[in-house]
Amino acid sequence: SASLAQSDPEIAKAIQNELGRQQHEIELIASENIVSRAVLEAQGSIMTNKYAEGYPGKRYYGGCEFVDVAETLAIERAKELFGVGFANVQPNSGSQANQGVYQALVQPGDTILGMSLDAGGHLTHGARPNQSGKWFNAIQYGLRKQDGLVDMDQVRQLAREHKPKLIVAGFSAYSRVMDWAEFRAIADEVGALLFVDMAHVAGLVAGGVYPSPFPHAHVATTTTHKTLRGPRGGLILTNDEDIAKKINSAIFPGIQGGPLMHVIAAKAVAFHEALQPEFKEYAKQVVANAHILAETLVKGGVDIVSGGTDNHLMLVDLRPKGLTGKAAEKALERAGITCNKNAVPFDPEKPAITSGIRLGTPAATARGFGTAEFQLVGELIIEVLDGLATNGEDNNGAVEQQVATKVRALTDRFPIYGQ
Ligand code: PLP
Repeated sequence: SASLAQSDPEIAKAIQNELGRQQHEIELIASENIVSRAVLEAQGSIMTNKYAEGYPGKRYYGGCEFVDVAETLAIERAKELFGVGFANVQPNSGSQANQGVYQALVQPGDTILGMSLDAGGHLTHGARPNQSGKWFNAIQYGLRKQDGLVDMDQVRQLAREHKPKLIVAGFSAYSRVMDWAEFRAIADEVGALLFVDMAHVAGLVAGGVYPSPFPHAHVATTTTHKTLRGPRGGLILTNDEDIAKKINSAIFPGIQGGPLMHVIAAKAVAFHEALQPEFKEYAKQVVANAHILAETLVKGGVDIVSGGTDNHLMLVDLRPKGLTGKAAEKALERAGITCNKNAVPFDPEKPAITSGIRLGTPAATARGFGTAEFQLVGELIIEVLDGLATNGEDNNGAVEQQVATKVRALTDRFPIYGQ
């Protein structure tokens, strides 16, 4: 049959342009990564054609012999990677993994306690517009004003006051180590279950450079596409057999139908990659690169929320330069550096403007950037921001052009996908 370029030139062109963008821009969005060709090949495979409702060996469709091989490998590798007894590899996304946990362990109207969105939590941790905030009595904890760290005293006090059934620990924009053990102690004190969403740091946990939520968490979820460097998707882990059974029923038939077998095959490939010794080196480098980037930015005159980073990301507070996140994101994008605006704790600006940007090192580290390159990236960011502060949004073109040329030279030195 016809190739994509022949049958649908508009989509083929969009994909080609997106490839060029990924090749030539420095990707600093903390939740993104660059997957291997092997992952792409599995995800783009004919396993997309197969219906396989159910679980390996217990399907509601015939012809599942080979997709069973793929799913069993994904499950066994995930268990090995995180040292747990159970894995469900079917969630179509991180959000659906979390929805599966709620479906399994709480009822509508029950109280849950999670980190608020503006403090760095995720929508699915009880934010008002999300189903988790609508269906549950969602209580939210945040950060301490004085140092930007999670306010564990507040977590304890809210837990004692509201007696949640489930405490959610985990984040989308927090640069420090979360004390999983302390969360568990609080959960035990009030008779709650501890649910850790390690979506952002799962690759660092797998690589041994960030504390594992186990044995503290009753259940943990992750996305497979962030630091873990796999296809887009979700994963649920536990050591508790009773919770495991409930999770399986919650995902199917609870909230999903036929699993995405091509994605599950790609998850298996990514878990295999993450089990190799090179992945430990990768994870270490991601963290080392975040350190040097944060250090370079502070030298350049901006603040990092909480004073630094222990993981792959940082929240940059732009107020020392009098800039907004919105303006900085746009200017950096014009210079070939991709990131996202992000509220800083107690941000005086509206969510669509913000006083900060969130930066992460996983994607550029995957293409081979080391500390020397990340120091340069930090300097290029400062060059754009200083230009913006001096020239204003509409007159910074020359500076952005200069930086774009340097970005192009740097990305050409670290080619991806046949660049
Ligand atoms: N949980 C956390 C902590 C996240 O950061 C994210 C993604 O941004 C998710 C869950 C949701 O993942 P997805 O975008 O795959 O639904």
